[in-house]
Amino acid sequence: MTEEKLEQLLLSVQKPGRYAGNEQGSVIKDKSKVDVRFAFCFPDTYEVGMSHLGMKILYSQFNSKDHIWCERVFAPWVDFEEVMRKNDMPLFALESHDPLYEFDIIGFTLQYELCYTNVLNMLRLGRVPLLSKDRTSLKNLVVAGGPCACNPEPIADFVDVFFLGEGEEVDLELIELYRECRDNGVSKEEFLRRAAEIEGCYVPALYDISYNEDKTIKAITPKDGAPEKVQKRIIKDLDNCFYPETFVTPFIEIIHDRAVQEVFRGCIRGCRFCQAGFIYRPVREKSAETVNRQAKCLCENTGYEEISLSSLSTSDYTQLEELLGEMLDWSDSQKVSISLPSLRVDNFSPELLEKVKKIKKSGLTFAPEAGTQRLRDVINKNVTEDEIMRTCYTAFKGGYTAVKLYFMLGLPTETDEDLVGITQLGQRIVNMFYEMPERPKGKGVNVSISVSTFVPKPFTPFQYEPQDGLSEVERKQKLLVESNTTKKVTLSWHDSKTSILEGVFARGDRRLCAVIAEAVKLGCKFDGWGELFDYDKWMQAFKNCGVDPDFYNHRARSFDEILPWSHLDYCVSDEFLQRENRLAHEAATTPNCRQKCQNCGANCFKEGVCIEKR
Ligand code: SF4
Repeated sequence: MTEEKLEQLLLSVQKPGRYAGNEQGSVIKDKSKVDVRFAFCFPDTYEVGMSHLGMKILYSQFNSKDHIWCERVFAPWVDFEEVMRKNDMPLFALESHDPLYEFDIIGFTLQYELCYTNVLNMLRLGRVPLLSKDRTSLKNLVVAGGPCACNPEPIADFVDVFFLGEGEEVDLELIELYRECRDNGVSKEEFLRRAAEIEGCYVPALYDISYNEDKTIKAITPKDGAPEKVQKRIIKDLDNCFYPETFVTPFIEIIHDRAVQEVFRGCIRGCRFCQAGFIYRPVREKSAETVNRQAKCLCENTGYEEISLSSLSTSDYTQLEELLGEMLDWSDSQKVSISLPSLRVDNFSPELLEKVKKIKKSGLTFAPEAGTQRLRDVINKNVTEDEIMRTCYTAFKGGYTAVKLYFMLGLPTETDEDLVGITQLGQRIVNMFYEMPERPKGKGVNVSISVSTFVPKPFTPFQYEPQDGLSEVERKQKLLVESNTTKKVTLSWHDSKTSILEGVFARGDRRLCAVIAEAVKLGCKFDGWGELFDYDKWMQAFKNCGVDPDFYNHRARSFDEILPWSHLDYCVSDEFLQRENRLAHEAATTPNCRQKCQNCGANCFKEGVCIEKR
């Protein structure tokens, strides 16, 4: 396909900027002079993928090596897919416009379970055989990383190597092994055997899974010398780890169109529902000096006028006030605004508010997650109602009139009283606003409550818990609406059917590979997008494959059941997760890592918060 023809075809689609490439900061190399061509695939739209920090880091890091050319590939939206099919055009990378099948390594980042059909659809559109066993040579090696790699079994048949944990080091080690094996004519089988020796590389083809009659897993058996357990990788020294000096700046609007500066990895908190809080342990911080320097450099190079300080819980950054002080020195004069996307209610001081007010003028967002203290204790969200009220009071006093609160529905042990507690809390915040003599004059208040459906995830204390069924979720949503008696509180929630599917894949096993392939055949894609998600087609796919989704979702697991991810080691021990599960059922809380180490297992790395002096 010529460039002229492509340009002409792009004119017929909704957003040509998604596919054109050539943005400022995109890397073009001479393909005759590079040794390994890597297609970094984000299995969602351009706007979503381009907002993802991990992709920005790895894209820049790979391209900083002369011998590697890393290009970006996104899932084409349905209009462009149709154009591609009609014109017999394979899926291509944005930089060279070369088809996916020409790449040495095709790497996917798996950020959420509902992207799995897009992974398969992208391979199909890129004319790459779907099944690992059908790709017999080293050409088109398919690799994947990201949070869903912690239980990659539902797509294990399609991927050659999964990266567990953080990618900066292990990805390059695998690329080097690839280069060496390819240049020496090593077979794919032998390459995979050697890949399995790299810490953090999981090769699913080297594990046999057998099942009991009740459909649970009987055994996970490694073969050809593969390790019994594959341990995740972490970056030990974030100050000296690669961080991009510039980002590709898009021509079209993307979800988060700003510079993003990472401040730390991991989370000290241990909220029992939160997978990120366990799989990214331990907390490792960058120094304020590094964060400030990198942030300034990014803003200068990209021209962005907003920078977001990113982490799982930015107000837990131990050097936050010092950092904000340093950043405000240059950001004010350069008209750059700073945003703090993840604040907690319990450490939101008036001093911090003063700084944040200078920084961010929009509404404030907090996540109490549950409507009663009992349930907040169950999930170990160590936040009291007093703290929530005090934070809202501070925010209102500071001139804010809108607060957004995030909650979850369907948490283990939840009762109707807990649910009604959500809207009652909203009402109490509204009442407090109107009772405040110092409230912003002449303005009304809005408390917006967003309720998502809880999905139990691997490597959390709730990995053993059953998930609510569809009718129960719908009953609870109705109860919430009925319990809300004021227009000052606005309620919104996520589609419950997508949560059911997310739950199946989150704790699914290899028997789901056939279901996902079948769903793709039936036309499923972009399952995270309400307008394209087709629940009935999915149920048809399960039926066609003889797989019962309820087996994965609505069943409690005993502590001694072999789980599909039992051979993967994220350095949080079963003993710790089970202890946390028991405490949850007693509504007993666990202090955070900085208050008291719980010996979760992540101290095996001897890094970060695990070795801090308390
Ligand atoms: S070992 Fe202790 S300090 Fe380290 S992550 Fe686990 S609980 Fe936190």
